[in-house]
Amino acid sequence: MEELKNKIRDVADFPKPGIIFKDLTPVLADVKTFQKTIDLLAKRYSEKGIDTIIGIESRGFIFGAPLAYRIDAGFVPVRKKGKLPYKTHSITYELEYGTDTLEIHEDAIHAGSRVLVVDDLLATGGTCAATCQLVEKSGGKVIECAFVVELNFLKGRDKLKGQEIFSLIQF
Ligand code: AMP
Repeated sequence: MEELKNKIRDVADFPKPGIIFKDLTPVLADVKTFQKTIDLLAKRYSEKGIDTIIGIESRGFIFGAPLAYRIDAGFVPVRKKGKLPYKTHSITYELEYGTDTLEIHEDAIHAGSRVLVVDDLLATGGTCAATCQLVEKSGGKVIECAFVVELNFLKGRDKLKGQEIFSLIQF
């Protein structure tokens, strides 16, 4: 786990002044660290009967897709407004300044499907909370939400009350 933590690069003032961005590209570029990350998640979820992994745009796709392959689950993207080609369910949620909208294909999740939501990082939890609502609107059941990194000081778990949350690394 230390090895994984050491590969995460802090980039100050990106994308805005005052934000310390956790850059996971060095984790992806190193074959052993990337494999280990997916292996650890696969170990946790391979016996949980997950039907579908939801990857949140865009870094959730990078971790969610190989994990889905490893645990024999389907992969469904949740994307920013206007990116998905077919009919969608959508949800608009509050950001620090303004709002954002996420979408999912309306036929992507079968009723009663057991869903794992995956993203690279849990910050304030707003994105994940909105994604969980989209899954429920689509008839799926969120079994857990999994992250590579969790920023504890932003208290994302408070926005995700009622959901099971797991992260590999905390800051
Ligand atoms: P939030 O809705 O605040 O939990 O934000 C989660 C989304 O924003 C995730 O998709 C992250 O990839 C991204 N994000 C937020 N804060 C950071 C950060 N400090 N470093 C890297 N990514 C971040």
